[in-house]
Amino acid sequence: MTKLSSQVSEKIKFAAELFRQAKYPLALTGAGISTPSGIPDFRSEGTGLWAKEEAMEVASLFSFRYNPTQFYEWFRPLANQIVNASPNPAHIALAQLGEGKHLNTIITQNIDVLHQKAGSKNVIEMHGSLRTLSCTQCFHQFDSTLFLKPFVEEGVIPHCTDCGAILKPDVILFGEQLPQKAWLKAQKSARKCDLMLIVGSSLEVLPVAGLPMQMLDRGGHLIIVNQISTYLNVRADIVFTQDAAVLLPALAEKVLNYD
Ligand SMILES: [Zn+2]
Repeated sequence: MTKLSSQVSEKIKFAAELFRQAKYPLALTGAGISTPSGIPDFRSEGTGLWAKEEAMEVASLFSFRYNPTQFYEWFRPLANQIVNASPNPAHIALAQLGEGKHLNTIITQNIDVLHQKAGSKNVIEMHGSLRTLSCTQCFHQFDSTLFLKPFVEEGVIPHCTDCGAILKPDVILFGEQLPQKAWLKAQKSARKCDLMLIVGSSLEVLPVAGLPMQMLDRGGHLIIVNQISTYLNVRADIVFTQDAAVLLPALAEKVLNYD
């Protein structure tokens, strides 16, 4: 394990103190928490499978409707990585904080289900997930387990077993509305929250990126763990730029073990 400097250790102590005092701590996670699990951040320049513009073009609702085969071709390596990925120490640390009653809710922008795989219970998925697929014609929803293996391994494009139309993964594509239910839940939690931990999100995607601002305006505390600077770094109580997979286990340990 990478050794953390004494300066970082001091910051961790302070962050742990904020966690212990918080009544409703909440985590907001983005692609950066899953990169140590081998899942590329397709929205970030240079780190994704494709350049950002290409991803936005292919992974949009418009192009899915126009050319679903092209979408599925682009999606296949990403789906393969997601299906085979395991939670990393950062996901596990958040699950432990939840277990220890030091984290109420996780709002995630990820579709990879790794928080749930790590054991987190209260997860709000803002961009949907790969767990289900829906028919583009009859709207029948299917569990994705039946379809993912043949798709990932042989490139078989999922079709509805009722009407034969193409299925769309229940992930939110560019140009698509956020799932209303998830968004209402996220807003409700954010209103109660008095400590927000941002992990691996550059806070670029609205409206989710606006949630911490509202909390700060009510006097809540903000901790950011992200390698790239965000628009709220100036207002955060603490900012960490270390790898979340190294930092969060150290933080969880400090929160959970009083000394
Ligand atoms: Zn159908």
